[in-house]
Amino acid sequence: MVGDEPHMPYDRPPLSKNFLAGEWEADRVALRKPEALEELNLTWKLGSAATALNTSSRTVSLADGSALTYDGLIIATGGTVRRLPNQPNIAGVHVLRTLDHAQALRAEITDGANVVVIGAGFIGLEAAATATKRGAKVTVLEGLEAPLIRALGAEMGAAIGEVHVRNGVTVRCGVQVQSIDGTDHVKSITLGNGETIAADVVIVGIGVAPATQWCEMSGLTIRDGIVCNENLCAGPENVFVAGDVLRWPNALFSDVEADMRVEHWTNAAEQGAIAAKNLLASLNGTEQEPYAAVPFFWSDQFDARIQCLGRPSANAQVDIVDGSVAEGKWCAIYSVNNRLTAVLGVSKPKLVMPSRALLSKHTTRDEALAHFERVIAAQAAATAAAQQPK
Ligand code: NAP
Repeated sequence: MVGDEPHMPYDRPPLSKNFLAGEWEADRVALRKPEALEELNLTWKLGSAATALNTSSRTVSLADGSALTYDGLIIATGGTVRRLPNQPNIAGVHVLRTLDHAQALRAEITDGANVVVIGAGFIGLEAAATATKRGAKVTVLEGLEAPLIRALGAEMGAAIGEVHVRNGVTVRCGVQVQSIDGTDHVKSITLGNGETIAADVVIVGIGVAPATQWCEMSGLTIRDGIVCNENLCAGPENVFVAGDVLRWPNALFSDVEADMRVEHWTNAAEQGAIAAKNLLASLNGTEQEPYAAVPFFWSDQFDARIQCLGRPSANAQVDIVDGSVAEGKWCAIYSVNNRLTAVLGVSKPKLVMPSRALLSKHTTRDEALAHFERVIAAQAAATAAAQQPK
C-alpha cells in the first residue's frame, strides 16, 4: 500500500466539518481502527509518492528512488488540490484537502477572524459554514454568477448560497480575485475591480485535478482521469482504477454521458471494492463485474443536509417537487431531454434516498413528477394519521 501522505488512511469528509470545527481529533477520522488494519497484514509505504508506472515491466517507481514490482495494481491516487496561479506562499493562506491542511487551518480559525474563502464549491462552502459556526466573519468569493454552478446548476447553486447568506456569510459571486496580499502574513485580497477585502485567513477551494501526472508516460489513456472500461480496468489486464482519478462508462447513465468521473466519497468506496474484486478475478481468470451505479453525495452546511443522487448538471431542467428554497428545506429533480438524471434534497432525506430505484432505470420527467406527487401525498397522509388523537 503506497501513499504520498505520511498518515494511515483517513476519511476526508470530516476535515471540512467536525474536524475543522475542533469537535473531532485525528484518531476519529481514521478509516479503520489500527488493529483492523494490522489484521490485513499489508506492507505500508507511506510518505512515499509513486512517480512513474511501467506496465510492461510491471513496476511502480517511488519518490524515494525505490521501485515495486506487481502482479496486480490498483490506482486510487485521487485528486491534487488546485492553487491560484499567483497564490503566494505566506502564512494564513490555506488549501483544504489533507489532514495536514485541515490541522494547519483549524488552528487559525478563531472567533472574530476575517476568513475569506475563494471558490464556492463543496470545500469552500463547507469550510465557510464551519468557520462561521466558530465565530469567524466569513466572505466567500466565487468567479461564476452563483455557488456550485458546475455541480448543481445556477438555480440550485444560488439556493444553497441563500442558506449561507441567512447564516451570516457574505457571498459574492461573479468576482475575480486579482491578488492575495501580505508580506509574511496575509492581510487582504484585491479584487479585479480594485476593491480590497481584509483577510486574516484565506482558504483557496478552487477544485482538484485528477492525480495522473505521475503515470502520464505509462501508456494508459488519460483524459481528465484514467480512462477505464466498465469493469474499471485501465487496459493492461492487471491494472484497475478507483476513486476521483477514475473515468469510466457508467451503464446506468450511458444515454446522457459516454463516461464520467465522480469526485465524491461513496463512489470511491464502492469503486475500490469492485476494482479489488475485478483485479482478483482477472488474476484468477474468473468473471468480472461491471460497476454501474447511481452516484451519491451529501454535504452538511449549517443546518442544511444536502443529499444528491444521480448526475445533476448545469444544463438540466430543474423542478422543485417539495418544500421551498424560502423555508430552507426542499427537494428538486433534474431532467435532461425529459429523462430524470438527479434528485437533490436539502433536509429532505425521506424523499432523496428512496429515489435510487427511479434513477437506476430510465424514468421520464413526467413519471418522476407523478412519483413524487404520490409519495409526498402518502407521507402527508401518514403524518396526519400519526397526529390523530388515539
Ligand atoms: P469544486 O467543488 O470543484 O469547486 C470549486 C469552485 O471554485 C467552483 O465553483 C469553481 O468555479 C470555483 N473557482 C475556480 N477558480 C476560481 C477562482 N479563481 N476564483 C473564484 N472561484 C473559483 O472543488 P472544491 O470545493 O475545491 O472541492 C474539492 C474536491 O473535494 C471536489 O472534488 C469536491 O467534490 C470534493 N468535496 C466533496 C464534498 C462532498 O461531497 N460533500 C465536500 C468537500 C469536497 P469554476 O467551476 O468556474 O471552476
